[in-house]
Amino acid sequence: MNNKVLIIGAGISGLASALMLEKIGYAPVIFEKSDRLRNEGGGLTLWSNGTDALHFMDLLEETYQNSKIMKESALLTSSGKTLATIPLEELATTYGTHTVGILRTKLHHLLASKLENTEMKLGYKLVELQENNEEVTARFENGHEETGAFLVGADGIHSSVRNHLFPNSVLRFSGYEAWRGTAPHTNSYTKSGFTFEAWGKGLRFGFVPVSSSIVYWFATRNTSENLLKVDVSREELAHMYRQFAEPVSTVIKATPEKDITRKVIYDLKPLQNWSKGRIVLIGDAAHATTPNLGQGACLALEDSVILANMLEQSTSISEAIKNFEKKRIKRAKFIVNSSWVYGKVTQIENTLMSHARNMLVKNGYSIQKNSNMMYRIIGHKV
Ligand SMILES: Cc1cc2nc3c(=O)[nH]c(=O)nc-3n(C[C@H](O)[C@H](O)[C@H](O)COP(=O)(O)OP(=O)(O)OC[C@H]3O[C@@H](n4cnc5c(N)ncnc54)[C@H](O)[C@@H]3O)c2cc1C
Repeated sequence: MNNKVLIIGAGISGLASALMLEKIGYAPVIFEKSDRLRNEGGGLTLWSNGTDALHFMDLLEETYQNSKIMKESALLTSSGKTLATIPLEELATTYGTHTVGILRTKLHHLLASKLENTEMKLGYKLVELQENNEEVTARFENGHEETGAFLVGADGIHSSVRNHLFPNSVLRFSGYEAWRGTAPHTNSYTKSGFTFEAWGKGLRFGFVPVSSSIVYWFATRNTSENLLKVDVSREELAHMYRQFAEPVSTVIKATPEKDITRKVIYDLKPLQNWSKGRIVLIGDAAHATTPNLGQGACLALEDSVILANMLEQSTSISEAIKNFEKKRIKRAKFIVNSSWVYGKVTQIENTLMSHARNMLVKNGYSIQKNSNMMYRIIGHKV
């Protein structure tokens, strides 16, 4: 059997799928267009469903050692009043694994450091694909050409593999942008593992400890498509969030300006299919979601485990790919659409409407629904 599998992209999806495919006897080759593994983008929350997937990669203990285990998550008003909480420590007992805050560099490093039988080709930008019933051939900008038994498109939201398979796929502009940063910061929240998201009017701030003395944060603001190129300085950002309760301003001001990155938020309108023949999409290439529920990377980790499981259980590669798609599309669509709606509700600017939203959440009306949704997402076992 030809056991070479071509993986396009060395993000979380590419690295995690290589790791799982190695485990079942494939020889992955990862092609990454950049000349180094990505190391920007601050941190991530990996909810129980994401750490459950890492468990299948034999990375759970090392993930815990390299991250901050979360005890509680809270939704707050901008003035710091609690609207709702999720008891993450309790849920870890039910779900089997913890929710953690982790630096992206650490997660990338952990995944890459476990690869034993994967060839990594940096500086290879995919430009063309060809397939037949037996194999797939990929061509790269530098003239290189490689053939494998199948190909995994793990090349993110602007995926070239997806454009080849589904040229009519649509990216949706969310209406908001996000700044992200990491800052040295120690308080009772970082020490205990308390994460929060505070809601203002059209502004949101998220606080995620990634160790006892480092916090990853994100800050969102409504924007319009003709403002896409405008950025602000750290001081302007701190000023924008001046009405938020501490530690928001302190954390923004403690962040080195070079470590603050801005991203305009898009998602991918859910696709009906993620594959054709021997080419399959995973991660953001298949189901890029708005970041509101902190699920993009978690879903990518889940995908990697399930793709390997389906390959093990099926009689042919194309059957495995179809089974993978069947098992994953509904869940990803549910998360993408829930996250889209969550973003619309949490970015409300109107004073009366945002007040009404906060009252509903505080009085348990929508939190009941919301927490069911959240529990269904984070309690998932691969
Ligand atoms: C503001 C924000 C906050 C987030 N917070 C969370 C969170 O808390 N928890 C969570 O689970 N998720 C979160 N996410 C989502 C998460 O970042 C993504 O879902 C995840 O990084 C997707 O990984 P990926 O490997 O699929 O894609 P990517 O990380 O985009 O990797 C794709 C790789 O493919 C390479 N590539 C692209 N085109 C080509 C080509 N033609 N040839 C070769 N290589 C190519 C790229 O260089 C890149 O390295 C957040 C996202 C954002 C924007």
